[in-house]
Amino acid sequence: MNYEQLPLFKLAKEIMEKIEAFGGEAFIVGGCVRDLMLQQQVGDIDIATSLLPEEVMDVFDKVIPVGVEHGTVIVRHQSQSFEVTTYRMEEDYKDYRHPERVYFVSSIEKDLSRRDFTMNAMAMSVSGEIIDPFEGRQAIKKKQIQTVGDASDRFEEDPLRIMRALRFSAQLDFSIDPDIYTVIGEKKGLLAFISVERIAEEWIKLMTSSSYMEGWKNIKNTEVYRYLPVFRDSFALMEAAPERRLTDWAEVISFYHLKQREISVKEWVGAWKLSNRIQKKAEHLAETYELFENKETAQYVVYRLGGEQLKSFQNLTQGLGTELPFDLFEVYNELPIRMKSELEIETREILDVFPERRKGKWIGEYIHALEKSVVQGFCANQRYELIEWVKEWDRLNQN
Ligand code: ATP
Ligand code: MG
Repeated sequence: MNYEQLPLFKLAKEIMEKIEAFGGEAFIVGGCVRDLMLQQQVGDIDIATSLLPEEVMDVFDKVIPVGVEHGTVIVRHQSQSFEVTTYRMEEDYKDYRHPERVYFVSSIEKDLSRRDFTMNAMAMSVSGEIIDPFEGRQAIKKKQIQTVGDASDRFEEDPLRIMRALRFSAQLDFSIDPDIYTVIGEKKGLLAFISVERIAEEWIKLMTSSSYMEGWKNIKNTEVYRYLPVFRDSFALMEAAPERRLTDWAEVISFYHLKQREISVKEWVGAWKLSNRIQKKAEHLAETYELFENKETAQYVVYRLGGEQLKSFQNLTQGLGTELPFDLFEVYNELPIRMKSELEIETREILDVFPERRKGKWIGEYIHALEKSVVQGFCANQRYELIEWVKEWDRLNQN
């Protein structure tokens, strides 16, 4: 391993050197060592140390004490954040929820032994040496997910690991060791003890991974879906997977809603405890899809969709296996207007055409009709034409 070629690792190394100069030990650990070996993009770098959090805070100037009781602080270095955590193990988990208490231990090997999977239980020293007591490298070579120690015990300790195993199968395109597969089948019921939010975090990572199909098949075959919100009441939802990868919550929720429309977006969002923002976007995508189904013109569909949602709508339609007979981006680029405010006419000018009429709901309806007409190219976006069009529209409406 050559630190020089990897800027983020080089910064981490500087932190580790400082810890060592202080008399402590430090290793890069966990997911980033795995991702480095897989030559995948490394998100953030975690460091494990023999120093206590108080000592780490003494060594560095810029430290954020995010979880001192669990041994974790964030060290800021060159505008980057590094999680530095004291070697620790976890005491018995109560109620499958959270460990009662963590306690600090003296060796990196002990710290690695509490980690979930062998590929996640490796450490790298300042000199680039890999500490790999559980043969994580071997597992990576075989592209296999294996638990550190007895799978049954480890899933019982923390059933979230079941979801993590499935999620990693999708993210890394790894297979799950056959014995572990069986254990997941046996222990999946323990997921009932895990909060929806934590399950949701893993599930969305799975669904939006490049190898989401691998994860989806694993969820289906292990029948873990029986413990997922919404799916647990509608097994039929597992009959079909998205045909292409979806990329965010709104796409995933609108996809499933359109697959089974009795289940509203709101219901999905409630069951998975998602945000209003996700609900709004999912509803918008689903409503736009329905406009398309109802044979509205490409221009109008794309106009209603809006420029920011083009990519998501494309993902959704591809996920559903629907072929759009037009190119969303091309149609959008050629729209005469992109929003109502671009109409070359003011509400006042419409009112002036009908001086005898009182203000009312009709104005909104007229503007909407105008908008639609301009978008579809039936009327040019010019004041005179727009006024003529309003008069004509009115004549038709009166009959
Ligand atoms: P990513 O950040 O890409 O999701 P990661 O492997 O870094 O993957 P994190 O959730 O960031 O996953 O956790 C960092 C490390 O902490 C893991 O690599 C693993 O060693 C350990 N770990 C995380 N969650 C658990 C858990 N539930 N049980 C045991 N060890 C865990
Ligand atoms: Mg991580």
